Amino acid sequence: MERRAAGIEIALGGPPTLAVVSVGEDPASAAYLRQIERGFAGHRLAARIEGLPAGAGEPELSNLLGRLGADRSIQGILVQLPLPEPLTFEAVTRHVPFEKDVEGLHPLNAGALAQNRPAVVPSTPLAGLEILRAAGIALAGKTAVVVGRSTIVGRPLAQLLLQEHATVVICHTRTPDLGSFCRLADVLAVAAGRAALITGSQVKPGATVVDFGISVVDGRLVGDVDFESVSAVAGAITPVPGGTGPVTTAVLARNLVGVAECQLRTF
Ligand code: NAD
Repeated sequence: MERRAAGIEIALGGPPTLAVVSVGEDPASAAYLRQIERGFAGHRLAARIEGLPAGAGEPELSNLLGRLGADRSIQGILVQLPLPEPLTFEAVTRHVPFEKDVEGLHPLNAGALAQNRPAVVPSTPLAGLEILRAAGIALAGKTAVVVGRSTIVGRPLAQLLLQEHATVVICHTRTPDLGSFCRLADVLAVAAGRAALITGSQVKPGATVVDFGISVVDGRLVGDVDFESVSAVAGAITPVPGGTGPVTTAVLARNLVGVAECQLRTF
């Protein structure tokens, strides 16, 4: 990837650069930017924060995204989620410029993914799939249960697993008896944002468990899966921290290089 990034740097006169849009004073945003910078270091990629004040509305977001869309020194745009009110996730999908959409949130990317066409895919679910591939976990014909139906993690992950020929069940807050579905899973992927939601008794022995959750409990970063009880039952499990997070940054870097190359081809 460094070679591709170096090629883009020569063509553009600067490294492929990601703008991270952050709204309000959010320590998590600063921490996320540091994580991205660490992940990008040594790969000839750059990231910079573009802040909006707390309370900013859709016109301000639209102006900023329009300006970044026209800025030739920026190749990718990531809007930090969740957004404080009155901003909504839908506002991001309305205004993020398609050419710089590194998180696959633009309806054209989300629609292309749903139709099994080439698309920029959100980095977190794609990271989950890359982990399963790297670990040699078979998906065709297996039962995959995804806990969470968000547009950024759960839904696109379900699409990716379906493309791999898994039988996919999506669970959410209205799903009664979550455990009865989770126990069916050969591959259980959890993106609910609820610390220790899944415990060992909800997991089929030998299942592969991918934990996307990130919560802070007593100053410690924890996932949606109770690692101790689940690791005693599962065949394989991703830890938090150190599991899907770092791979997500690597996929984000790859998405950035991909959209930058597309922009060069269209200049
Ligand atoms: P979200 O709040 O948008 O969606 C959560 C989903 O989980 C919803 O669809 C909801 O229906 C479902 N859910 C919540 N509680 C549930 C319950 N008790 N039972 C069943 N379903 C339940 O969150 P998101 O943006 O999808 O993020 C999910 C988690 O993943 C968060 O902890 C977030 O911090 C984390 N995350 C991780 C990465 C990464 O790189 N690892 C990236 C993005 C988000």
